[in-house]
Amino acid sequence: MDKKFVYLFSEGNASMKNLLGGKGANLAEMTSLGIPVPQGFTVTTEACNKYYEDGKVIAQEVINQIESKMKELENITGKEFGNVEKPLLVSVRSGARASMPGMMDTILNLGLNDDTVEAMAKLTGNPRFAYDSYRRFIQMFADVVMGVEKRLFEDLMDKMKEEKGVHLDTDLDADDLKKLVGQFMELYKKEKGEDFPTDPKMQLIESVTAVFRSWDNPRANVYRRLNDIPSSWGTAVNVQEMVFGNKGETSGTGVAFSRNPATGENKVYGEYLMNAQGEDVVAGIRTPQPIDHLEEQMPEIYKQFVDIVNTLEKHYKDMQDMEFTIEDGKLYFLQTRNGKRTAQAALKIAVDLVEEGMNTKEEAILKVDPKQLDTLLHPAFDQEGLDNATPIAKGLPASPGAACGKIAFTAEEAKDRAAAGEKVVLVRLETSPEDIEGMVAAEGILTVRGGMTSHAAVVARGMGTCCVAGCGELKVDEVNKTVTVNGKTYTSNDYLSLDGSTGNVYGEALNTVAPEISGHFETLMNWADEIRALKVRANADSPRDAKQAVEFGAEGIGLCRTEHMFFAEDRIAAVREMIVSKSEEQRRKALDKILPMQREDFIGLYETMEERPVTIRFLDPPLHEFLPQIDEEIKALAKEMGLTFEELKATIESLHEFNPMMGHRGCRLAVSYPEIAEMQTRAVIEAAIQVKNNKGFNIVPEIMIPLVGEIKELKYVKDIVVATAKKVIEENGVELDYQVGTMIEIPRAALLADEIAKEAEFFSFGTNDLTQMTFGFSRDDAGKFLQDYYEKKIYEQDPFAKLDQSGVGQLVQMAAEKGKATRANIKLGICGEHGGDPSSVEFCHNIGLNYVSCSPFRVPLARLAAAQAQVKNKR
Ligand code: ADP
Ligand code: MG
Ligand code: MG
Repeated sequence: MDKKFVYLFSEGNASMKNLLGGKGANLAEMTSLGIPVPQGFTVTTEACNKYYEDGKVIAQEVINQIESKMKELENITGKEFGNVEKPLLVSVRSGARASMPGMMDTILNLGLNDDTVEAMAKLTGNPRFAYDSYRRFIQMFADVVMGVEKRLFEDLMDKMKEEKGVHLDTDLDADDLKKLVGQFMELYKKEKGEDFPTDPKMQLIESVTAVFRSWDNPRANVYRRLNDIPSSWGTAVNVQEMVFGNKGETSGTGVAFSRNPATGENKVYGEYLMNAQGEDVVAGIRTPQPIDHLEEQMPEIYKQFVDIVNTLEKHYKDMQDMEFTIEDGKLYFLQTRNGKRTAQAALKIAVDLVEEGMNTKEEAILKVDPKQLDTLLHPAFDQEGLDNATPIAKGLPASPGAACGKIAFTAEEAKDRAAAGEKVVLVRLETSPEDIEGMVAAEGILTVRGGMTSHAAVVARGMGTCCVAGCGELKVDEVNKTVTVNGKTYTSNDYLSLDGSTGNVYGEALNTVAPEISGHFETLMNWADEIRALKVRANADSPRDAKQAVEFGAEGIGLCRTEHMFFAEDRIAAVREMIVSKSEEQRRKALDKILPMQREDFIGLYETMEERPVTIRFLDPPLHEFLPQIDEEIKALAKEMGLTFEELKATIESLHEFNPMMGHRGCRLAVSYPEIAEMQTRAVIEAAIQVKNNKGFNIVPEIMIPLVGEIKELKYVKDIVVATAKKVIEENGVELDYQVGTMIEIPRAALLADEIAKEAEFFSFGTNDLTQMTFGFSRDDAGKFLQDYYEKKIYEQDPFAKLDQSGVGQLVQMAAEKGKATRANIKLGICGEHGGDPSSVEFCHNIGLNYVSCSPFRVPLARLAAAQAQVKNKR
């Protein structure tokens, strides 16, 4: 049988998201639940993929299947597509697996032309409605499918309203709209050099094709990269019978959430507009009514509405985001999906759903996106500053958080200034999908128009960016780049502070304070800890970072980079001295200065971490970062070392490396200068003994040798460590256990991991270097060309942010297996940036690592991601 590319809503269900997209699968599910849904069919994601495989043409067999489903839809509805007595009108809606702003806009009222519009007028006895639908259709089709700018149509509409002296679209009557349709047709012809297409079948196929095409537009590509959505998924297209919210005052359209998406409060939340269609509610043209108002306006409908909302929430066991339309006093649902929500709301809803008995803890864990926690781990305004500041304006608290920055007036500007290191707040009349990159770059977003479900609000919540929307008091002059409020004017050089939790806007820079984990957040994190098998450690080099890490739930330190301790002003001189030393004697002199500092560092860490494991990595300095650069510094150091300026300068030049990333670093330094490893061992062991003696903590130091590629090299350094440790332990007359392990960060070490495990008691995968060396490009330079690779779809993700599971991941998995084959109880962890990326954490869980280690601020994220991995793949 031929492949099936088109499904009626009655043929699908919610489990078919991959094929039907999220919207299509849920329309099918609602249909089977008996909820009033206008019927239709879904063209599958496979048809979209086929479109691309076939060189961007829609296959005839797909067209044939669409036409045959259209016949079935005609039977279901008792109407006929293109018929001049009972015309069937449809919407064409894109719908990928994951909801994706940035893709094609929906086309409504498709099937209208000069003949069918008259039929609609006659059939409904409402010519105003018929022509209102027609002008909308022409504009949408011309804009979305044919690329004629929407603004040109809107200008004509504005001109018409001006001539009539009215403000609202709804003030235009049937004759006006008919005239407007005529003007639209002329405009179209002028722009495209041909008549507007009148054949509904052609309109339909063109629209479906346009949805497929939009899957690859730049906005969609940017969104996909930010959200980890592979381009191979494709999008589905839904074709659905129209219901009309623009038929008059007993019709309307709205959006609703089954719980408050900003706070999580268990109360239906929504907005609607009477006599309106489609996007009118979110477009911010007229101000919508809160959903409560519907109870007074149409009590019967409201009751039915609330029943359906409850049914859907119980059915999906999650907060729902829904679209509905009322046509002549009859209610229809047009969409439902698990609603996007703020991090606060996500936590409250997850905990509430368990307490209400709707979810298990395991299910609840899966309801919070680990990446979202980030927003809660970043500063909020400090209360004192807030109390002393007076807001200059107040808008809607659309997405929580605290943002402070200088004003940027366009997305472009926000992007550029942020790239140059400036903190900016994006201020717009309203945002649109073209603004996405600027919205990502901005600290916060402030809009003049639009409600809680406006584009800015929805996107900001999705990204976890602070947003204040609908701040109507502001007068924004986008051309001259000024904001005026209460007679005061702010420019690109002025600071604004936004409080996304209250909607307050401040005309100054306010201070922020550190976050803490409490309430629902704490409850959920405790559940995550009960569930997960993978341990979570932090990368921390100072007691301050270590303390933060423990507060965020870290169970140890997976990576202490000892070279990071040397940047401090009072230390760098000694380190430089060590680096440029020409003789062992000179070097030992410098190392003697460093030893006490290093010991103090480790004591601080051990005391903070108590008996939690701490992995200390031996020196791995990129030498060029430490060498003195300017003559002043060289002179000072020369004096200190009793050298002439010229002598020292020559030494520094001789240390220059062509490729420092592959240069004299890591354990190679200890091979050349064993006294460095000696000093570090002494510092680690003495610190552990001292903390043991003073505080009674039983410390088992983990010493980690970096950049190993060969077992003999590891053994050479390890022998120094063991000999020194033995000596120090004997000197102190105590007993102390310690471990020596290695980083696996050079491909050769991964390949020979079974041998290396003979000497190493633990492996820590240094996936930053391992990625760099496996791909053969440096992480400091890759940024310059990776953009080209994304655009050309060679790589879809930055491999330094998201572990390349098929390549680098294979090395990790292989090394883990080889390591275990040699040493069954070998401890395995990862300490690259990837330790804080949810999909990489899942990978680490799946291949059986013991722990991930990430920066302190990502620890909660990793804890949750580890629990989710456990729920999805029990081990
Ligand atoms: P988006 O994914 O951007 O929300 P949708 O496809 O959901 O786009 O549609 C945009 C708007 O058009 C929504 O308000 C939706 O309810 C409305 N709409 C879509 N299809 C129909 C239809 N068949 N009848 C009435 N309204 C529709
Ligand atoms: Mg929608
Ligand atoms: Mg490294």
